Amino acid sequence: MKYIRKSIQELKEYYVPQDKYEVKLNQNESPYDVPKDLKEEIVEKFMNTDWNRYPSRTAAPLVEAISEYTNFPKEGIVAANASNEILQGVFQAICDAGDKLVAISPGFAIYPYLSKIMDLDLTQVPLLDDFSFDVSAIIKEGKDAKMVVLALPNNPTGTTISIEEIEEIAKKINGIFVVDEAYFEFSKKTAISLLDKYDNIIIIRTLSKAFGLAGVRLGYLLTNTEIAGAVQKAKLPFSVGIFGQIAGEILLKKNEYIKDVVKKILDEKEKVFAELQKIPSIIPVPSFANFILFKTQNVSGIELFEEMYRRGVLLRYFSTPRLKDTLRATIGKPDQNQIFLKTLKEVLQDA
Ligand code: PMP
Repeated sequence: MKYIRKSIQELKEYYVPQDKYEVKLNQNESPYDVPKDLKEEIVEKFMNTDWNRYPSRTAAPLVEAISEYTNFPKEGIVAANASNEILQGVFQAICDAGDKLVAISPGFAIYPYLSKIMDLDLTQVPLLDDFSFDVSAIIKEGKDAKMVVLALPNNPTGTTISIEEIEEIAKKINGIFVVDEAYFEFSKKTAISLLDKYDNIIIIRTLSKAFGLAGVRLGYLLTNTEIAGAVQKAKLPFSVGIFGQIAGEILLKKNEYIKDVVKKILDEKEKVFAELQKIPSIIPVPSFANFILFKTQNVSGIELFEEMYRRGVLLRYFSTPRLKDTLRATIGKPDQNQIFLKTLKEVLQDA
């Protein structure tokens, strides 16, 4: 099609199966929906708000609530329709076509996706054999890059690096360092303390995971005033609608419920990991997030994925050469995890 930009023609559409499965463990969502009383409070406020009026351009009351939750000044916060939109705003505020972007592989698919849309020059630094980070290679590649972007913990491996290593990268590269903390509530590790010291760090967060708000679409960034202002300009005004603003404001203020959610998911993760370790042909990767990546030895990733799917368990399969014999399982509710483990053992026995 002659009218379409070449990079968009070449871009493979982002795809992930979204079937309504009983045991749906493929998108790192929270298995727990938002508590009903909080949903009712949100809907009531939504009903009593004018729909004919534009929402706050910068989502000011929501940003105020993010500021309280993170204990970070509101001048350094930008809210958006989840972290994908924040990432898009950051890429557009920082990068010109042809700029060098450094990410890791395997890593979160949206970074190469945005890189392609914006015609950036992407370098993907491979993770080491055990999926740990090659920090010195990231620094080496990052020196002449416009931007380095890392998910910490990383999706789909669940692996991460220490605060000291994050600092070393921020110090030694010459461009922007985007630290995607989508799984912060599970890893409990954050680079916030470095924001005072380094002017090149942008932290990205989402309410799609621990807060159970993947369907509402809310995320934010934390950085210095100058970068925040630039991203706010790059992002289109009024993008966060009144429903998202109200839901985010209420849930961030009444965030007690996520403590229980996070605890249940972390407890379950330990149990699932221990069970996976007992299966001889499975090697699970220790994870700091709400999912576990595991290697399969006797059967290919795609065969195992398809058989699990046929038996009612939806996992995440990756077709890239490095991950072709691995699958990723999001931690679900205890009964879902039991079904996942039971089905996995049955399939491997039958294989
Ligand atoms: N960053 C990482 C590392 C993720 O894994 C995800 C979700 N899979 C996102 C960002 C995007 O999430 P959302 O757009 O729902 O905030």
